[in-house]
Order: sequence, then C-alpha cells, then structure tokens
Amino acid sequence: MDIKQIEMVLTPRQPHFVGDGFRVHNFIPGGYGLTMQRMDPFIMLDYASKYHFPPTGKPKGVGVHPHRGFETVTIAYKGSVAHHDSAGGGGEIKEGDVQWMTAASGVLHKEYHAESFCETGGDFQMVQLWVNLPAKDKMSTPKYQAIQNSEIPKVNVENGVVEIIAGSQFDKKGAASTFTPVNLFNVKLQKEGLAQLNFPAHYNTALIVIEGEIIVNGEEEVPLDHFLLFKNEGTEFTIKASENSVVLVLSGEPINEPIAPHGPFVMNTREEIMQAFEDYENGKFGILED
Ligand code: MN
Repeated sequence: MDIKQIEMVLTPRQPHFVGDGFRVHNFIPGGYGLTMQRMDPFIMLDYASKYHFPPTGKPKGVGVHPHRGFETVTIAYKGSVAHHDSAGGGGEIKEGDVQWMTAASGVLHKEYHAESFCETGGDFQMVQLWVNLPAKDKMSTPKYQAIQNSEIPKVNVENGVVEIIAGSQFDKKGAASTFTPVNLFNVKLQKEGLAQLNFPAHYNTALIVIEGEIIVNGEEEVPLDHFLLFKNEGTEFTIKASENSVVLVLSGEPINEPIAPHGPFVMNTREEIMQAFEDYENGKFGILED
C-alpha cells in the first residue's frame, strides 16, 4: 500500500460572518498556507461549523452578489438554504443535499436561510467550496446541479457508507458532473467504522471532520471541525471513526493555470478581472431584486 502522507492538521480559525447568516471558519485560502495555488482546483472553502440560530421572521443570509469564473458548491449538513439567481433559478438546499452552481460567465445570486428553517430555528452547518474552472470554460454558460441526497451514489464500507458527490471511487461515479477531475465525498462512519480511499498522488487532497472524531492512516487523530491536508505523496489512506463521524473528503487534479482572484471573480489575468467589473457594472450579469 502506497500511503498518502499527512502534511498537517489544522484547527479551525476564528469564525466570521458572511452576511448575517453564515458563521464560517475559512480554511482556503486562509492563513495556513492553503493558497489557491496549493489547493488548486479548490480556491475557497468556508466551513460553517454547527451553530444554533433562534427562530426569526426575517431570514438571515447574504444579499445579491455576483460570481464569475468558477463553481460554488454548497453542502448542507444541518439546516436549509434558499437561493435565487439572475437566470430565474431558485430552490432550496436541504439537509444532506448539495448544490453545484457553475457561475462560469457570470450570475447574480442571493443565499438565505430557508423560511422553514427560520420558523423553527435550529442547528445550521454547511460547507461552501469554490472549484476553479479551466480557462477554456470560464466564460461558458452558467448552470445548476441541484443534487438531492437520494441521487448521490452510496457505497458501503466497514460500518459505514461513502457518498460520492463527485468523482469516482469503488467503481462508482459521483452525482455531479465536473469540468476537471474533482472528487468530493461524504464519508459517514459509525464508531469503529473504516474507509480506505485512493487518489492519485498529484491530486490536492484534504478532509474536514464534520461530525465526530477520526484517526487517519492509523496514527493521526483528527478532532471535530479540524482540517487535514495530505502531501502530494502516496495514493491511499484510511479513515477510522473513533465515534460516529462524518468526514468531507476533497481531492482534485490541479488545473495549473494562472489564477487572478478578486473578490467574487476568479479569472486567469488581471485584464479579465477588469472586464468582469465592467460587465458587472454594465448589467451583463442580469438583474436580481434584493
Ligand atoms: Mn455566492
């Protein structure tokens, strides 16, 4: 077995609020050296650890904002998010579901706690991940993949299950279509459960403990809400659950193109960023009411 070596285990940073509804710990491209280049094609990861929101009549969230040049992936663990966009799309991301939005040439959207969640209040826990697009696809047509939990292929492992949101493993293909090779799994294990996963050495690979506590490669304890980064050495690793656990695993092939980020736009050159601002100001991202 060619073991994928561990580079570091990171404690979550101090949370901050995105809008008034998303209390997140930023891991990528945070202050831990997890730059967009290091984590390519994963260019942003905000983790909303479990947090209780009381009932409210006024949904909390993030108002209208644009995106261009990448995909936003929202994984709902607790609570429910409603979204609307300038292409007339909208829907609700419920517990266990995933929304894979290809912003590509540009969308305006807004993200709020769903009304049903606001009525009762409750625990809220999510991941939002930005996946970069290769240059040739950055200006392609925006699209959504609204993936319900029932549509996500599941593979049984020892005392657990692996949900393949995107990519492939155990001869199964994930629910989401991607532009470049991207693996995104939820590993759900009961206490003492064990999963063994395998990705190419050069893929940038990491995991987050969403529930419980795990031991990776039989040696490294990773507590709740912590992030583990693998070195680009070796291919296989094991996750063993010390208690009932949920682990988000991400592994992607680097795109290896220049990255020019600016706020909600991630392009390849400075000129393309200027163009994005110009297009945004000229209303080319469409119209969406607050
Ligand atoms: Mn957004």
